[in-house]
Amino acid sequence: MHRRAYAQEHGASETRASGGSGWRYSAHATARQAGDGIMAIEPKQHRRPSIGKSTPHKRTARHAPRETRANSSARGYDHRWEKFRAAFLERNPLCEYCLARGRVEPATICDHDLPHEHDPHLFWNNTFTGLCKFDHDSTKQRMERRYSGGDLLRAIARAKGKT
Ligand SMILES: [Zn+2]
Repeated sequence: MHRRAYAQEHGASETRASGGSGWRYSAHATARQAGDGIMAIEPKQHRRPSIGKSTPHKRTARHAPRETRANSSARGYDHRWEKFRAAFLERNPLCEYCLARGRVEPATICDHDLPHEHDPHLFWNNTFTGLCKFDHDSTKQRMERRYSGGDLLRAIARAKGKT
């Protein structure tokens, strides 16, 4: 009597679980655990409003980096520069000033030999040196304060040990 009552109760709950409302309920539970990603397997009723809700979020998220990119490209540091910089550092992996002093230091900065000062022509029509952060921030800054134009290029050549 007691056992049968238990079995009935158990059977009843199984039926509920495999039925329409039971499935939807379990889908909800999973969605709550896993977040937005699970929404795709939910019934269409649930899918449409979830897309409607997430689309403005995505648009907002896309807008923010685009504005940041506009600011960086205004300075000349756009995608083209990123590609150039990466390729340059791949070909020039060591800091050239350190190398001239007999030190092996990775180059992390693709430095414009002549300061471009946001001039787009000088930004691309320049020569470049792979530098470590220390040499970019101190050695090169010191040279830029002291020299310009051809004198600066000669100072750079000396720093690279190419005189
Ligand atoms: Zn260095």
